[in-house]
Amino acid sequence: MTDLGLYIHIPFCRSRCSYCGFYSVGRKPDDRFVSALLEEMKNRAPSFQNRLCDTLYLGGGTPSFLSIRQLSAIMKGIRSCFHFSENPEITMEMNPCDMTDSYLSAARELGINRISIGVQSHDDRLLKAIGRLHTASEAEKVIRRAYAAGFHNMSIDLMYELPRQTVEDFRKSLLWAVHLPVNHVSVYSLILEEGTRFTQLAARGLLPRPTEEESWAMYQDMCRILPHYGLERYEISSFARKGFRSRHNRKYWELSDYLGMGPGASSRIGRTRFTVTPGVNLYEKEWLSGGRPPEETEHLSEKDEMEEYCFLHLRMKEGIPLEDFRNRYGQPLDYWYEKQVDMLKKQKLLEEKEGHLFLTYHGAALGNYVFEQFLRDE
Ligand code: SF4
Repeated sequence: MTDLGLYIHIPFCRSRCSYCGFYSVGRKPDDRFVSALLEEMKNRAPSFQNRLCDTLYLGGGTPSFLSIRQLSAIMKGIRSCFHFSENPEITMEMNPCDMTDSYLSAARELGINRISIGVQSHDDRLLKAIGRLHTASEAEKVIRRAYAAGFHNMSIDLMYELPRQTVEDFRKSLLWAVHLPVNHVSVYSLILEEGTRFTQLAARGLLPRPTEEESWAMYQDMCRILPHYGLERYEISSFARKGFRSRHNRKYWELSDYLGMGPGASSRIGRTRFTVTPGVNLYEKEWLSGGRPPEETEHLSEKDEMEEYCFLHLRMKEGIPLEDFRNRYGQPLDYWYEKQVDMLKKQKLLEEKEGHLFLTYHGAALGNYVFEQFLRDE
């Protein structure tokens, strides 16, 4: 049996954060949504009976906005529809506001064995400015509480290049993070996503951003401080202690199959990618009346897939495994990319060692420029 990753999108949030471009609505998940999700599972599962699910990721939105009764129904539903491997990684995104002792222990009993928490910063002033509803000390308290409750596999998100964030602010966040009982840290720079409050402010010239020098200093601090405390950078935005790399995210970077369910969720099965149309009401109406919400389907050509293969693998520390590339596409990488790879090696942005082509320190800082070179014209 080949393996499969599962993703469930819970598109509900208490309020919208100013930077977030994910699809979500500002209310509590209702039972109608859970029933629709169970319908979707039942409907899709028959095509995956020969697959063994080794990762499950509950993302959002805010999955911890689900009541324990609703979470229990979802976990029961998914276990009855799909086959799981012996030791699956089951991650749930949680908001510090929801992580009470009783919620944590019930989630553990339901099989959640990894938590991902969007703490974003150590600075309460910044947390307020980006629309988070918790303070840093509240986040720290619940992380320690979760550890005491038995969650020894936790990840946190941090952000940099936030409006009015100084180099010193970000350094403090990093130094704070490394002393929390977590073994995975994802760090994202602020990206101005369409339709967010920050993008509107930026369009009116009202969003102060760090200078290029400050951004570079923050980037260098991240690359220096986290590894110094044992969190190895194994992907452009991800740092982990030994043995704690995200198994689920790896499926995205390695082009493995994953099935996403819930409004707005994307899937990739072989060379087909499909995304359920966002819209909770439509989603509920369709699944609960015997229909199915429309989805956007894309069949990737070999060329499209090869481009993705290159830049997704380059995101990872190990880069492109050249032998695997040749086996997959029938020709060595140089056959298509000799000129580009030579140029990027001369610019000291790529390096080749032991059969792998990977980003250098500077290459990782200029990731988007490197990835663009792998888009083929024809
Ligand atoms: S960052 Fe998370 S909590 Fe904030 S709006 Fe986006 S999905 Fe919701």
